[in-house]
Amino acid sequence: MKEISEKTRVEEIIEQLQQRFENIAEIHIHHFSTATNASDLLIKVHTGDAESFEQYLDEFADGKKAIVDVGREDPLTLPVSVMATYDGPGNMQSSEGTTIYMSENVIGAEPRSTDDGLRRLKEKLSGTCPCCRESVESFSEHYRESRECWEDEQL
Ligand SMILES: [Zn+2]
Repeated sequence: MKEISEKTRVEEIIEQLQQRFENIAEIHIHHFSTATNASDLLIKVHTGDAESFEQYLDEFADGKKAIVDVGREDPLTLPVSVMATYDGPGNMQSSEGTTIYMSENVIGAEPRSTDDGLRRLKEKLSGTCPCCRESVESFSEHYRESRECWEDEQL
C-alpha cells in the first residue's frame, strides 16, 4: 500500500483498500448522523485476508484525515481510522452507518458498487436522503417516519 498522505480523498482511500485486499466482502463506514455534528469516520473492511478480528491499519494510525466532498464550498475533512476484519459482512444501514461496497458474492445481500455507496454516504452527510431526496435534519427520525427510505438503504 503506498504512503497515505495527511489528507486523502475518501474515494482514494477506498480504492487503495481495494488494491490491498483481494477478497473484500463488504466495506462499511461508521459516520456521524449529519454534517452538522461532525466526528470521526471508521472504515471497516470485511475480508478473509484480514489478519485478525480487529486489524487496525498502521497507515491510518497517526491522525490521518479523509476529505469528503459533500457538494458545498468546503469539503468535510474528518479524522479517519481503518480496520480490516475477518468478521462476516452484514452491517445495519442506519443514520450512522453506510455500506460503501457489497460484493456480489455475498449470499443473502444485495450487491452495492462503490460509486453507489459513496454517493449515498455523501448525501447522508450533506443531509439529503438518498431515496426521497428530501433535506433531512435527523436520519434516525427520518427513518422512523419513512420506512420506505430505510428499506431502500438495506442490502
Ligand atoms: Zn427519505
